[in-house]
Amino acid sequence: MLTTLKQIVQEVSRTPELDAALNRLVTLVKKAMEVDSCSIYLANYDKQQLILAATNGLDQGAVGKVRIGFYEGVIGLVGQREEPLNIENVHQHPHFKHYPEVKEENYNAFLGTPIIYQRKVLGVMTIQQTQMRRFSPDEEAFLVTLATQIALEIANANMLGELIQSESMAQPSGPQMVNGVPGASGLAMGIGVTWNQQVLLSTLVNRRHQNEAYEIIAYRDAVEITRAEVKALSLGLDESLPDDIKAIFTMYDQLLDANSLGREVEKRIKDGWNAATSLKLVVEDYAARFKAMQDPYMQERAVDIIDLSNRILGYILNPTKKPRQFPDKPFILVADEITASMLAECPSDMLQGVISINGSQNSHAAILARALGIPAIMGIASILPSLLDQKTLLIDGYSGAITISPEPQQAREFKQLIAEEQNLNDRIDALSNEPSITLDHHDMHLYVNTGLVVKQELADNTNIKGVGLFRTEIPFMQSDHFPPEQAQYELYRSILQASPDKDITMRTLDVGGDKPLSYLPIVEDNPFLGWRGIRITLDQPEIFLVQARAMIRASEDYTNLQIMLPMITTISEVKEAKRLLQQAFFEVKEESNDPHSMMMPKLGIMLEVPAVVYQLPKFAEHVDFFSVGSNDLTQYLLAVDRNNPRVSSLYNSFHPSVLAVLQEIVTQAYQLNRPITVCGELAGDPAGAVLLMAMGYEKLSMNAHNIRKINWVIRSIELKHSQQLLADVMMLDNPNEVKTYVDTFLETHGLGGLVRAGA
Ligand code: PEP
Ligand code: MG
Repeated sequence: MLTTLKQIVQEVSRTPELDAALNRLVTLVKKAMEVDSCSIYLANYDKQQLILAATNGLDQGAVGKVRIGFYEGVIGLVGQREEPLNIENVHQHPHFKHYPEVKEENYNAFLGTPIIYQRKVLGVMTIQQTQMRRFSPDEEAFLVTLATQIALEIANANMLGELIQSESMAQPSGPQMVNGVPGASGLAMGIGVTWNQQVLLSTLVNRRHQNEAYEIIAYRDAVEITRAEVKALSLGLDESLPDDIKAIFTMYDQLLDANSLGREVEKRIKDGWNAATSLKLVVEDYAARFKAMQDPYMQERAVDIIDLSNRILGYILNPTKKPRQFPDKPFILVADEITASMLAECPSDMLQGVISINGSQNSHAAILARALGIPAIMGIASILPSLLDQKTLLIDGYSGAITISPEPQQAREFKQLIAEEQNLNDRIDALSNEPSITLDHHDMHLYVNTGLVVKQELADNTNIKGVGLFRTEIPFMQSDHFPPEQAQYELYRSILQASPDKDITMRTLDVGGDKPLSYLPIVEDNPFLGWRGIRITLDQPEIFLVQARAMIRASEDYTNLQIMLPMITTISEVKEAKRLLQQAFFEVKEESNDPHSMMMPKLGIMLEVPAVVYQLPKFAEHVDFFSVGSNDLTQYLLAVDRNNPRVSSLYNSFHPSVLAVLQEIVTQAYQLNRPITVCGELAGDPAGAVLLMAMGYEKLSMNAHNIRKINWVIRSIELKHSQQLLADVMMLDNPNEVKTYVDTFLETHGLGGLVRAGA
């Protein structure tokens, strides 16, 4: 039975279109369970109806036509009660309602089970039989299990708007809504323009060549044209873009330059494949290696390699290819996979927003869109880009919602919202260099979180006090081996050097959990509770020592370095790390030309494991400062995996217990006379920042794009009002109540526009 069930689920999930998948499902179930009919009804919440979507056994003509109210008949009852209904003779059931179109007169036995995903009834699945009997517990268990497995497929299709496309649903035409993942905040309106790739590596048929020398020249020429194109694109980028964005194009250039890529392609040409096929074979191999990595950031690198290779391929096949044309009216770029180079190619005055059918918040496109201030929606999985082509689109980069072909009134209202948003942004920008002081003169210090170069941000925004969290793992993740001491030294030194008067807090390597290194594979059942952060680097002191030496060497002549340890749980970890840091310090001192001027950098720990909260006084004896990692602290306090979409609604830093712990930490830190910062996402959230300030936190560290916003919030309120707000929310029972309460506070202080943005 289990094998049959698995086979059915596998076959159905392999069928791309929902209609076809459901038809396949009912046929397979009918056969496997040896019944006379199997049917699926899908819920339409707008109409409060369950619509017959597929059947094998009832009349085919009824598909898409029979619509059963949520409170009607036995089907409605299954949905309403959210439990299976097993009836010997359905015609005698008090809730039975006759629908002549389905032609079920001969069927007596009925078993229906709800299809539920994340507490929401998506539909009802039924089996029926002429014979009068109750289905066995095994049969019931089979159908219930199948329904739970199939729920995810339907939920996906539902989210993707596939149900809207599905003919069987026979939806009226008009505005349609689909949801993706917010990639960059903001609202935008424009015509959908799909990026059609003329040639794609993935669709190329492998071919052998006749003339090796010709193919090598064709490949090299194509690389040169692509290199010039990428260079032109990068020169066309706005000068004010952050360095990490410019670094994307440097990486493209390096990829083109990568001897290994070129060498491998030419090796394949020498093996007899033509230039295009050789490129395809090498790139697919590279991309597969990146895709196999667990870390989403590294997976995204596969997209970059393929994007670049598609450009090279275009020039191999057509060296005189013409530049792409764009409409001369506001548009929203739609593509299966939007890449940084596509964005750079679009005319910036007309490009309003982007929709990347695949991709995530880590995609370069999302990063670039955020830097360009263009709303972006990512990851709408299997929706067809053509569905959005040449249609008016409204995109909401805060929530991830897309409205296709809105009603005129809806479009007018959206335009109004865009204007209001623009107005708010202008006001925020105008004050971005003003100090972060509340209306009642309370001074707050804002810092930036980063993992890449930061010179630009620090130079541009004089209001930024320094780097509150430099995630050193990012450069480690971008490399295919542990970066040597000299490379680390150069990177760290360039950062310390760029802002010698601003504190730079560098965190020692924090990998493991959701941040594996390709060259340090870790297979664990519970990675977040496993070998991560300081646990790894203390077990592998050679990694720690190299990094410590690089940091300490980099800080010679500077006084702005602070070193911070991640994932600390026990005092002995701090003592051991300190011992290693001291060893590194003495080694560097011995090698130094000016040993007497050298000073040991300040040392701090991240407070992200709840256990440390109860030993703060002991930790304070060993360290100079604390920094709260509210992302992990929330995850560990609430026992919710921060990356698991199934429990994402439970992951909430506004949980009263999280707030209580945050309050406890800051109160203790003051008593212990230790500076304290919050460097988790909560600090960059308007509602979070207000509560943290009220608790007594004076240093908040956040992503660069949140700084201006939080500065505006602080400048718009009084400390004493935020303290009253905190006292009120501490009386509330659950996270959503807290969030709503704080949002209302923000609205009454004229910060309503940020409530959406902070969500
Ligand atoms: C945190 O846990 O809050 C934090 C800042 O660290 P990371 O998100 O890098 O784990
Ligand atoms: Mg953390």
